[in-house]
Amino acid sequence: MVIETIVSAQAVIGSKSVRNRATYDKHYYETHRKQTTERMARWRKANPEKNKLVQTKCRKKIKDEVLRHYSPNLTCARCGFSDLRALTIDHCNGGGNRQREQLKRRGVSFYMWLRRNKYPSGYQILCMNCQFIKKSEGNEYGPLPRRQN
Ligand SMILES: [Zn+2]
Repeated sequence: MVIETIVSAQAVIGSKSVRNRATYDKHYYETHRKQTTERMARWRKANPEKNKLVQTKCRKKIKDEVLRHYSPNLTCARCGFSDLRALTIDHCNGGGNRQREQLKRRGVSFYMWLRRNKYPSGYQILCMNCQFIKKSEGNEYGPLPRRQN
């Protein structure tokens, strides 16, 4: 079964080895960009529910991969909370909003930026509670507006 799969994969990609499949796929995409993009757009339009599932799965995979780089056990650096849904990237020295505005990236796009830039230092994993507490303690929101009487 495994051998049949490997043989058929080799047949599909010609003389390339199975190990080079990602390289081949990337090359194919670059040489057939227009057809591939149009075919993918048609598929997304014809399968909106499946597309939503694929997108959700892809975002979760990227987030998981990036968070595991900064915290292999997927836990908050402050309190140890471990629910992936509430874990986020924290800029250790603050300035996260400024950087995201400069990069024009938020959410999974920012995670992809981190991955593409080989996981730069200066980041840690915090849960949302600890993010808000840290921001409050560090006064990252800036001074509170004065009350008008
Ligand atoms: Zn926490």
